[in-house]
Amino acid sequence: MKRESEVLILGAGASGLMAASILKKNYILIDHNSSVGAKISISGGGRCNVTNRYVGIDNYVPRDEKIRKVFDRFDNKKLLKWLRSKGMALKLEKEGRYFCADGAKELVKTFRKCVNPSSLVLNCEIHSLRKRNDLFVMESSKGKFSARYVLVATGGLSYKKIGASSIGFDIARKFGHTVITPKPALVGFTVQKPQFWFKDLSGISIDVEIKVGEKRIDGNMLFTHRGVSGPAILNASLYWNGGYVEADFLKGKSAVSFLKNPKRAISTQLPLPKRFVKAFLDHLNIDDIAVGRLKKSEIEALRAFNGYRFAPAGTFGFERAEVTKGGVDLGELDENMMSLAVNGLYFAGEVLNVAGELGGYNFQWAFSSAYVAAESINGSS
Ligand SMILES: Cc1cc2nc3c(=O)[nH]c(=O)nc-3n(C[C@H](O)[C@H](O)[C@H](O)COP(=O)(O)OP(=O)(O)OC[C@H]3O[C@@H](n4cnc5c(N)ncnc54)[C@H](O)[C@@H]3O)c2cc1C
Repeated sequence: MKRESEVLILGAGASGLMAASILKKNYILIDHNSSVGAKISISGGGRCNVTNRYVGIDNYVPRDEKIRKVFDRFDNKKLLKWLRSKGMALKLEKEGRYFCADGAKELVKTFRKCVNPSSLVLNCEIHSLRKRNDLFVMESSKGKFSARYVLVATGGLSYKKIGASSIGFDIARKFGHTVITPKPALVGFTVQKPQFWFKDLSGISIDVEIKVGEKRIDGNMLFTHRGVSGPAILNASLYWNGGYVEADFLKGKSAVSFLKNPKRAISTQLPLPKRFVKAFLDHLNIDDIAVGRLKKSEIEALRAFNGYRFAPAGTFGFERAEVTKGGVDLGELDENMMSLAVNGLYFAGEVLNVAGELGGYNFQWAFSSAYVAAESINGSS
């Protein structure tokens, strides 16, 4: 089988579906899954956090001006307006997060209505892409497809079990693009031996402030049998490139300021789970005794509650990561997400070297980058 179209969209995930909904040229949308939008369906605990009330380049790694330029053309407000125009009900929740009021599957259904059924090719493994004269030729498990424009929307490496593959990065490299080493992000940390005491605290969560490099992150940290997780840690993983992470378990308030009663033990006075305090004191070699009996050096050592440094061993890996950081270098694309080296070759979504924090930022990026790419293709002759 050989099929021709003006545009080939590789990947029917968030960005591929948005591009297909915007394109006015004739296109073919390809995915190896048996249905579209697999990640959308499971996202946000099945409710899909589509975007956030506040979106800016500070929510992304790297903090690249090109991201701002994309949002200048299709930002959160335009996305919300577009989704509502398609009949989607959205719900604003805490921390400015917008969710699909009727669940993530509703968004997939909405996109399905926007996609021309005869343009959709499912159960089709993309193998490679080449360009001959002005035409791209894509080899796949369902034969050859050719087009003048290609949008690579094949996502990152996380969640292989629902379709992730390295094909987008392979294609980018084949065409001479730089791919910043893909790494798991929005993922938990495994710990080294000095922090094995964390493992006994599995299930406990604490509201903390995490410092990683120059970045400070407020949120919940969850102890697990493998290490640490929870929103603060997931966001920290976005900024972590090896080295130390620092946790302030009392968010700026000194431990001593809570220890008002000299007759009572430390663990009964700190506003933290008792089991955690006992384990931490044990780790610090301090007995959980009446505060009045503590030595001066022990009181000083309690400062560790405000700055406990540890070097994660690594992360829980791509299988548990919500996104991939790294990817195709934005510096080698124009503002329409088209390759500066290969005319007609576009990229959108997670395949690019853009990863956002928790809170709807990754879908916003997928939809915005796909929108500008599709608009640019619409305007090309
Ligand atoms: C569990 C989970 C929850 C998440 N929740 C949220 C959330 O609530 N809010 C948010 O903003 N972000 C969330 N994300 C991140 C978000 O899902 C992604 O950033 C977004 O889907 C990226 O869109 P994309 O189009 O670039 O890639 P994807 O949506 O991953 O789409 C890529 C498509 O390409 C296809 N593909 C890949 N390789 C091939 C191949 N060789 N041949 C054919 N097809 C191929 C895949 O099957 C897939 O359909 C979540 C991620 C996960 C894993």
